[in-house]
Amino acid sequence: MIIGAGLAGSVAASTLAQSGADVVLIDAAAIVPPSLRAEKLGTDILALFDRLGLGETVRAAATPISSVWIARFGRVMKRRSRLEYAFAYKDLVTALRANLPAKVDLRFGRVADIESGPDLQRVTLNDGSVVEARLLIVATGPSAAIHRRVGIDIVDATRDHSVCIGFYLKEPPRAYPFESIVYYGEHWNDRVSYISLFPIGTRMRANLFVYRTHDEPWMRDFRRAPAETLRQTLPNLEKVCGPIEIEGNVDVRPIDLRLTEGHERAGVVLIGDAYCTSCPVSGTGMHKALIDVERLCREHVPAWLATPGMGPEKISAFYADRIKADFDRNSLALSNRLRGLATGRGVRWTLARAAADARSAAAFTVHRGAQMAAVLITPIAEFLERI
Ligand SMILES: Cc1cc2nc3c(=O)[nH]c(=O)nc-3n(C[C@H](O)[C@H](O)[C@H](O)COP(=O)(O)OP(=O)(O)OC[C@H]3O[C@@H](n4cnc5c(N)ncnc54)[C@H](O)[C@@H]3O)c2cc1C
Repeated sequence: MIIGAGLAGSVAASTLAQSGADVVLIDAAAIVPPSLRAEKLGTDILALFDRLGLGETVRAAATPISSVWIARFGRVMKRRSRLEYAFAYKDLVTALRANLPAKVDLRFGRVADIESGPDLQRVTLNDGSVVEARLLIVATGPSAAIHRRVGIDIVDATRDHSVCIGFYLKEPPRAYPFESIVYYGEHWNDRVSYISLFPIGTRMRANLFVYRTHDEPWMRDFRRAPAETLRQTLPNLEKVCGPIEIEGNVDVRPIDLRLTEGHERAGVVLIGDAYCTSCPVSGTGMHKALIDVERLCREHVPAWLATPGMGPEKISAFYADRIKADFDRNSLALSNRLRGLATGRGVRWTLARAAADARSAAAFTVHRGAQMAAVLITPIAEFLERI
């Protein structure tokens, strides 16, 4: 039984059903609501979807992008050929749900009660119906309701880690000289990681990632006058992109990094954001969720079902899985490193930033000074980051 038919839950249901398991998949929402989440994926994540038999479903729900410009300081630094796929998250999840194998029993309803233990898991829905299964997989994203019911705590690794902002531009994709672009923050005190512009269908989408807290004046300014605040924060952006005019709602999503405690318990296993979250700037959230699904559903669950019981030792083996644990650890480390590079103080981060700045300056200039600086600073910065 899986609670949460989002990305991780739907892919897990599909993977388990492909291997012959009987699966009940439960979600609170019959229609996937619009929600700001991952909106682009690259070939590494698509390869995982392919391995899980869902590559074609994803390709059909997404807009392919074949090239990206990398820009900063009002100049284009690189023009890269890179295959990516862009989508509205709700369309991706809707497509995954629509392509579930017939063997998956998809139900909608609110969970009223959960009894969990080493042999049987029992979930009662608000309409009085009861579902029993040997294993309960919780894939409810960052929502804490199910965690509370089974006695698992969600703890903050970092509150107000970053903010992700999504909006559509007025002009269609054909109005821009590029197919997609990633434009990096210009100065460390602008606390911008980057903005990326890319097509979803016939519209041009923007994702802006900043290291701000949700209650500071910049956020209020952005909500009130987004285009103007963007112009002031990245004064050279329009030299590359042309005039930025925003159309429709601006979605603002503060990001806390979250972990769980007390999760090694009989009968219940957490996957995706329900287990831990990462910063969207790291671009690892979907990958992390799919690694969870692949390791759990291809490796662990078939072995668990082959022997009696669902004790905590089985569940703990999944959390200790080397591939999963390494990915989670690296994802958290990357989230913190990128934040440090953009906002960190002290010698370590100042040098790391200087090295990154010198490298990006060297990438688009033949100026010997920048190239020498990059060569000299980079090893010192890398050494300081390692200690
Ligand atoms: C703003 C933002 C931007 C991001 N950008 C990127 C990016 O660029 N690249 C990247 O790789 N990752 C990104 N991520 C992370 C990525 O989107 C997530 O890691 C991934 O979507 C998590 O999927 P999930 O299945 O764990 O959760 P979800 O897809 O959220 O699924 C949770 C499901 O559980 C259901 N549910 C919740 N509570 C209950 C309940 N009590 N009962 C029943 N059902 C319930 C919900 O309805 C939902 O269907 C971003 C995240 C955010 C927030």
